[in-house]
Amino acid sequence: MAPVPMPSALTFELLGKCSVTKARAATLHLPHGPVPLPMFMPVATQASLKGLTPEQLEEAGCRLCLNNTYHLGLKPGQAALDAIGGAHRLQSWPHNILTDSGGFQMVSLLKLAQITEEGVRFLSPHDGTPMLLTPEHSISLQNSIGSDIIMQLDDVIVTTSPDLVRMKEAMERSVRWLDRCIKAHKYPERQNLFCIIQGGLDLDLRRECTKAMVARDTPGVAIGGLSGGEAKDEYCKVVDTCTGLLPEKKPRYVMGVGYPEDLVVSIALGADMFDCVWPTRTARFGNAITDQGVLNIRNAAYAEDSGPIEEGCRCVCCRSREDGGLGITRAYIYHVTAKETAGAHLLTMHNVHYQLNLMQRAREAIIEDRYPAFLRDFFAKLYDDKSKYPGWAVTALRGVGVDLLSD
Ligand SMILES: [Zn+2]
Repeated sequence: MAPVPMPSALTFELLGKCSVTKARAATLHLPHGPVPLPMFMPVATQASLKGLTPEQLEEAGCRLCLNNTYHLGLKPGQAALDAIGGAHRLQSWPHNILTDSGGFQMVSLLKLAQITEEGVRFLSPHDGTPMLLTPEHSISLQNSIGSDIIMQLDDVIVTTSPDLVRMKEAMERSVRWLDRCIKAHKYPERQNLFCIIQGGLDLDLRRECTKAMVARDTPGVAIGGLSGGEAKDEYCKVVDTCTGLLPEKKPRYVMGVGYPEDLVVSIALGADMFDCVWPTRTARFGNAITDQGVLNIRNAAYAEDSGPIEEGCRCVCCRSREDGGLGITRAYIYHVTAKETAGAHLLTMHNVHYQLNLMQRAREAIIEDRYPAFLRDFFAKLYDDKSKYPGWAVTALRGVGVDLLSD
């Protein structure tokens, strides 16, 4: 039995739909301002994006970033968050914040985490005392953080698990935990609770879960449990199946996705929001994300390269001095990157800008109803030959009416 529908603290303003694929462009109006969709959300772990200040994140066009409940719950902790008045004030971040439930962090970081009907049991990383994260506790923490979008605690297991019985149990438990989250949520008028669809790679389980979640009528919907090493074909089938059953006027968030190819294909399959630590993490290894693929600027080939990280990029690093930027060259990154932070910091700025800009370009293409041409152009730049296009992308896009291989 579904509880009474909750109030919503968002409005989803649909601006355009692709006439061929399932792509949508929208503006998501949240308590801390409007957010353009589709949107990539950088992950600001421990309330500061590694390598970027809130001002730089803002300047890159970010209007919604992700904070980890698990980290904020440990430091500064719930009492301090309540005293300060939440994570927006803690970080002096005037825009929107999305928090995860904390469950996934625990299961992935703490080897001894154990899931029962009550919640996630784990040993405190501080002193080893047994602790329990329940749906109620996760929501209480997120209420103290004050994030604009909060996520339900879900029972998440790796999609590649062959145990269908456990997969079904996790899916059904996630629905029961959503009901507990809805009941525990103190501020539905200013914080939007998103449900998380589970069910592994089994499309029937995903369908069943989607129907149960949609019946709960949360302000937004996430598709969870993916990006766990499953084949991309399987990933696309799950996203396509779920979006096909979701209401049009609600945001759809696919968790843990960040490779540019995955983003543009997922948008074509009807998804709107994404997050991933990869763009910022990979910057720390000297990797720049560009339309031509990922470039490792630590490669000696860039030692005397006086060009910007990416030709034509409008990020503050790549723009020339005359154009108000820093005029950073590949050679400069090459020479400082070995010495750690400076190079990583510059590449982080570029990568975050790349991701946000890619979403902006996709959005414009959808609004102008030329998303299929955008997709063809995107893959043509990324691969010098059509024979190198990834089969999963070709298949998934063919399923929504775009043939990348035709002329
Ligand atoms: Zn750049």
